[in-house]
Amino acid sequence: MTTPPTYADVGDAAVRIAGHAHRTPVLTSRRVDAELGATLFFKCENLQRTGAFKFRGAFNALSRFDGEQRRAGVVAYSSGNHAQAIALSAHILGIPATIVMPRDAPASKVAATRGYGAAVVEYDRYAQDREEIGRTLAATRGLTLVPPYDHPDVIAGQGTATKELIEEVGPLDALFVCLGGGGLLSGAALAARELSPNCRIHGVEPEAGDDGLRSFRSGTVVHIDTPATIADGAQTQHLGALTFEIIRREVDDIHTVSDAELVAAMRIFASTLKIVVEPTGCLAFAAVRRLAATMAGQRIGVLVSGGNIDLDRFTALLTASSGGLVPH
Ligand SMILES: *Cc1c(COP(=O)(O)O)cnc(C)c1O
Repeated sequence: MTTPPTYADVGDAAVRIAGHAHRTPVLTSRRVDAELGATLFFKCENLQRTGAFKFRGAFNALSRFDGEQRRAGVVAYSSGNHAQAIALSAHILGIPATIVMPRDAPASKVAATRGYGAAVVEYDRYAQDREEIGRTLAATRGLTLVPPYDHPDVIAGQGTATKELIEEVGPLDALFVCLGGGGLLSGAALAARELSPNCRIHGVEPEAGDDGLRSFRSGTVVHIDTPATIADGAQTQHLGALTFEIIRREVDDIHTVSDAELVAAMRIFASTLKIVVEPTGCLAFAAVRRLAATMAGQRIGVLVSGGNIDLDRFTALLTASSGGLVPH
């Protein structure tokens, strides 16, 4: 089996992506801090290239292709953000890309992927197995498969977001990270354990897809059906072998939040922090809002994972809900 990456791999990834990935801003809000009674640092990967942290892992993985792999090309499967990340990274590095995407993926994500010059192969995510489609394409066309989370170079790349965060703001008492397949959380855990050893590391999943929590508690990877949640970036059915190994070893706790809590967080991001965050990107902040009373006075890192959402959908979600902070 592949060995899991270490913090040294996160350091190497940081060197590879420098000058290609954005060093995203860390936002703070006195208003949010006052409301929650803690000091929050928002690492804004919604402002990363392609609108999500996935560019970090994708670019790191593709940078390591040898000449033969570069010539033959890359194949990836994704509900959206990994697809765009692979497509843009491949475009920058001159590598042909084929992306396997669900037929019902957000239109903006499909269009962006095609816009970067990638070939898109569609599938039905409720009936077909994307991993099998990806593996078949890889085998028949000689393409190299880069999975969205269970890959050492992807995990190491995702870890660079937390490395930047802690290097910028200093040690944290707690770090909250959204959890789908666990690439971001496991990379974050490697970086946080090294750079802020006493930081408590928390993963956050949608309530409807709590396979990570159940895996964490049972000590074995739990598989579930595709969960129904507005957090489309976390509709994964199971953790990876590598991500689970790191999460089990380094992560302190896993929480779940409801779709309504995601929308409430999305509203505060828009109204108070002035940023557009997709539902999956709201997972970490939603959990911090729920748990704030137990973390009074702490310095809390919040990974804001992505901002790719069709504006009509964004408006519809906010219109259908109420709550959050009272507007100015
Ligand atoms: C992919 C993605 C996630 C989940 O990341 P994993 O590495 O699969 O846990 C969360 N938020 C956004 C915006 C994503 O694109």
